[in-house]
Amino acid sequence: MEFNITNKAVQEFRPSKEVMDPLQPYLWLHEEEVQADGKLKKVNTIFLTNRECPFKCVMCDLWRHTLDEPTPMGAIPAQIKFALDRLPKADVVKLYNSGNFFDGKAIPRYDYKSIAGLLSDYEHVIVENHPKLIGEFIPEFRDLLDGSFEVAMGLESVHPVVMPKLNKQITRENYRKASEYLVSNGIDVRAFILLNPPFLTDERENIEWCLKTVEFAFDCGASACSIIPTRDGNGIMEKLREDGEYVPPTLSALVEVFDRALSLKKGRVFVDLWDLEKFSDCDECFEARKQRLQQMNIEQKVIKNIECKC
Ligand code: SF4
Ligand SMILES: [Zn+2]
Repeated sequence: MEFNITNKAVQEFRPSKEVMDPLQPYLWLHEEEVQADGKLKKVNTIFLTNRECPFKCVMCDLWRHTLDEPTPMGAIPAQIKFALDRLPKADVVKLYNSGNFFDGKAIPRYDYKSIAGLLSDYEHVIVENHPKLIGEFIPEFRDLLDGSFEVAMGLESVHPVVMPKLNKQITRENYRKASEYLVSNGIDVRAFILLNPPFLTDERENIEWCLKTVEFAFDCGASACSIIPTRDGNGIMEKLREDGEYVPPTLSALVEVFDRALSLKKGRVFVDLWDLEKFSDCDECFEARKQRLQQMNIEQKVIKNIECKC
């Protein structure tokens, strides 16, 4: 069944939302990641609780941990403090807010100064943002930081049919403009890219379009690309799967994309390994293949492949 992807259609299929506490982040974690200088650094990631993103992308499930109302002033600094009190020391901090850091109803601008003050020990700060929310408030926030700054933006897919259907409301031009604006302001750019977005179901086409999207992001100035295997779980994605409009990627496709994207040598490439077992078709070699991808995320080079002999 073909139906129009509108905000309403996306919301109609949603399961219920979780009740969130505006004074607590919903998750915080400590990991390691290679930074733009090629060094492996300690990273603290804080998943902030804030007002839901006004965009309603088809594949998004980030709304589950968000608030319906604008985030109260002071809540974000309180959440950051809460997480930092529980996290070890690190070099880099990621503030991921299930939406857009520069959406003033999600992260009140009034709080920028306190946020920057809390992050003064960090050498690099990374936030996520929509390519259309670009303006002078970004360099203003950058100037409050002691360390360098990076903005991660969802490019998702540059496939000409898929891109408009995702309901992200961006074009290649929007993305390029946003990316170039950030780079010209001395801000690093990271791109989120989907493998097997909805509306593209052929495995080979998915691999090639994912790589074209990676190349486009680097061409726009990204210093890192993060490849995300598209998952269902938000209601409408299950419906699209039933209708044959979405097919989950295979682990082999993710492996091929990662190997080839790293071989481009245009910048750092990461693959998102969360819930990876969803995409595995062989229990025997899954752990070894996952470990290989983990190692490649850290080493940023292609290592010997693990053949499935099962
Ligand atoms: S812009 Fe990001 S957070 Fe907002 S709906 Fe799209 S994917 Fe989700
Ligand atoms: Zn196997």
